[in-house]
Amino acid sequence: MILENGIVRTMDASLPAARALAIAGGRIAGGVGVHETALASPEAVDLGGRCVLPGFNDSHVHFPTWALAQRQVRLEGTRTLDEALERVARAAGDVQPGRWLRGMGWRSGDWSPATEPTKEALDRVTGDVPAALMARDYHSLWLNSAALARADGDLQVEGGVVERNERGEPTGVLREECAWHFRDTHVRPTDDEMVEASREGMRLAVSRGVTAVHDKDGWLGALRVFQRLHDEGSLLLRVWQSIPHAQVAEAAALGVRSGFGDDLLRVGYLKAFMDGTLGSQTARMLDGSGVEITSRAELEEIIRRGAEAGLPVAVHAIGDLANRDALDAFEATREVWQALGLRPRIEHAQLLAAEDIGRFAALGVAASVQFSHAPSDRDLADRFWARKTDGAYAYRSLLDSGALLANGSDAPIEELDPWAGICAGVLRTIDDRPPWHPEQRLTLEEALIATTVNPAWLARDERRRGKLLPGYLADLVVLDRDPFELEAEELPSVQVVATMVGGRWVHNPAPWG
Ligand SMILES: [Zn+2]
Repeated sequence: MILENGIVRTMDASLPAARALAIAGGRIAGGVGVHETALASPEAVDLGGRCVLPGFNDSHVHFPTWALAQRQVRLEGTRTLDEALERVARAAGDVQPGRWLRGMGWRSGDWSPATEPTKEALDRVTGDVPAALMARDYHSLWLNSAALARADGDLQVEGGVVERNERGEPTGVLREECAWHFRDTHVRPTDDEMVEASREGMRLAVSRGVTAVHDKDGWLGALRVFQRLHDEGSLLLRVWQSIPHAQVAEAAALGVRSGFGDDLLRVGYLKAFMDGTLGSQTARMLDGSGVEITSRAELEEIIRRGAEAGLPVAVHAIGDLANRDALDAFEATREVWQALGLRPRIEHAQLLAAEDIGRFAALGVAASVQFSHAPSDRDLADRFWARKTDGAYAYRSLLDSGALLANGSDAPIEELDPWAGICAGVLRTIDDRPPWHPEQRLTLEEALIATTVNPAWLARDERRRGKLLPGYLADLVVLDRDPFELEAEELPSVQVVATMVGGRWVHNPAPWG
């Protein structure tokens, strides 16, 4: 197949742009020359002036959770508790007997008057239907009385918080480990539910130019879900899978090392958490506030055991102390993981002390960040991290220090939409307001590298993905215009036209009208 009459952005400095691209047997065959036109009957695709880029790789997705969230009550954008309750009330009638009412997306910091949700408020609109509503950052869970009754008082676990009222009763809000423990014990989706939702989610993701993801739902059984989709032929994109660090012994016993799998689905890395989040005010801070989920010493142990099993570690760290502890742990264990060529990463790296920024590059720890979080979180960050935001979402500073930046969405916290993320990285605003900390803006090329080249490197795929070079897998996206020809403000209007994975159109095959 030859894609011609457009602009091909290879993301490789040796030949950044080409007029055409030849594809043979699932791989890039090269630019178009004598060789390719001499083929018996190449299929020519007229790009009509459109732009071809390497397919987008979302470096941080909770894929089955995101796919399921497409079908749940969504509370994003609610401005009052009552508005949230109205949405829940509308959905409550549709819940089949015996099923849960599931929802997500609330953030009490967005509500005025300021208030925290309660089980009593929820009971009024749900009655006896058990309801579990996850906060937008996934670190708090809002339950009604019917839901709480399922736990029979068994709510408290280490590393978590059960909010209680003045009578000492649970208010209905659980945080951190308590929220996750409840969800995993009582509200866990079945594999069938996840497969069904993810099958549809695949189609939605590729329609947005996604050709690969680094999934974070290993704890939920995502590997089983993706394997079932793979078997039935509906795994449309490539997956680099996390597994929970607590399962490192099982992986080691089986001999499953990083990279095990095939071209589409591979086991990647261990996932761990240092702290909570900005929105729940549980990020672990140098000022002493926040929640510690994993200590520095515990992370060292996780890294060592991961290295023995041949698995790198990706660790969630939001607060400045959580990030420092994580960096300290990677530094203390560097002989172990560096010798094996493992590629560790800190997920989010949201707030960094000035003296820690340069340590990512110095150690060789990647910063797996989410460009769209900066403009989405700006109001909360200005409030909760007042006078500290110089080191918040500091993508430019990280890049200038030599750190490897990989961009993701953290879907369903943000939408799984890489182009929106790229625009957020370049513009640092998603509304009419001026950019937030404009000194941290990235160029379009830098934002694209973080969404194509660098995620492929993290998955050890740098010699076969992330660029449009001869011999590389033909994973690409066709955009309606060449974004490099546009003013930054115009970038959000660019549309994904078509997506190809391994030489096969997975979204909107050519020709295009
Ligand atoms: Zn996440």
